[in-house]
Amino acid sequence: MPAQLIDGKSLAAKVREEVAAEVEELGHVGLATVLVGDDPASHVYINLKQKHAGGVGIRARDIKLPAETTQEELLATIDELNNDDSIDGLLVQLPLPDHLDEARVIEAIDPRKDIDGIHPYNAGCLYLGRPTLVPGTPLGIMRMLAEYDIPLSGARAVVLGRSAIVGKPMAHLLLQANATVTVCHSRTQDLERHTLDADVLVAAVGQLHLVGADMVKAGATVIDVGMNRTEDGLFGDVDPGAMDVAAYMTPVPGGVGPMTIAMVLKNTAHAARARKGLVSGVS
Ligand code: NAP
Repeated sequence: MPAQLIDGKSLAAKVREEVAAEVEELGHVGLATVLVGDDPASHVYINLKQKHAGGVGIRARDIKLPAETTQEELLATIDELNNDDSIDGLLVQLPLPDHLDEARVIEAIDPRKDIDGIHPYNAGCLYLGRPTLVPGTPLGIMRMLAEYDIPLSGARAVVLGRSAIVGKPMAHLLLQANATVTVCHSRTQDLERHTLDADVLVAAVGQLHLVGADMVKAGATVIDVGMNRTEDGLFGDVDPGAMDVAAYMTPVPGGVGPMTIAMVLKNTAHAARARKGLVSGVS
């Protein structure tokens, strides 16, 4: 029997409804997105985030700066948004042009407004298991796993990829959910030895169909984060043939992608709540 598809698109719509209700209750939730330069994929992401933010009633400012923006100019923009009380969430689209120091820029964002969960303070809180703002992609994956009742406590979870925005926070969240977690990366030997052991397999590598059907354990839950653009369209890191082996699997597109944006909006509402002192989690 083929795997059940984990429908990220409709779950994302449900999350957006929840956020819309939260925004209505809060009265005002403000988001600022900052994009530097002309990267076409970044423009697509920002436009999507702006569209969906507007759709749930978040007041979104769309700041687009030229590619030649200096470090000082960008830091000044972030400083202004940090101090703007009408802004609850502040998102700087990555990657930045090469002449800008990404680490310094991220550190300049007020951690309470860091809805991408990438400030070292928030990453540190996640590491320590304290409530915090968590990157949208792994947060969305946890929500998908919960929604489909995928057991995590005691399960073997394998994460392919160790980036700061996906792989590492994913591993921490799975660990917090009491899974036994293995993180694989480009130097991992015998990848399939690990993947074949996974009850929950999260592929966040960025290599077209790296995970073949023969690398997936029968009955596993497979979460495909990969977004590989080809002339024929968008494809994941997992060969679709894995559908015949897995019990649950996310499609690409229509899986993790829509959930990521929905969770960034959820983070924005959460940041607004925390700034009003209504929830703990972001000091
Ligand atoms: P990244 O920063 O490039 O990290 C890729 C990771 O994969 C690295 O840790 C790398 O190992 C590892 N890797 C590379 N080759 C490998 C191999 N052969 N076997 C095992 N691991 C390998 O990428 P990212 O930002 O985490 O994104 C990963 C993918 O997810 C990309 O396709 C990206 O577009 C997609 N993505 C999707 C969403 C979404 O919303 N759907 C969000 C974010 C990212 P090293 O650390 O050793 O180099």
